[in-house]
Amino acid sequence: MILKTITLFLLFMALIGMFGKWRAKLTGKPPPKLLGRPRKCKRCGRFLIGGGPCNCGKG
Ligand SMILES: [Zn+2]
Repeated sequence: MILKTITLFLLFMALIGMFGKWRAKLTGKPPPKLLGRPRKCKRCGRFLIGGGPCNCGKG
């Protein structure tokens, strides 16, 4: 049953390759979902990293 195992393995590899191509086609670029949209201070326009208020004290 080695032949069966090899066939299954090859099929598995082919599937992985197809899936990778497919995903690249569908998404194009990987969207930065984890980071989300960068928040900006309404007053000074600086990017806010973290989630607290801006350093300028006005935003
Ligand atoms: Zn600010």
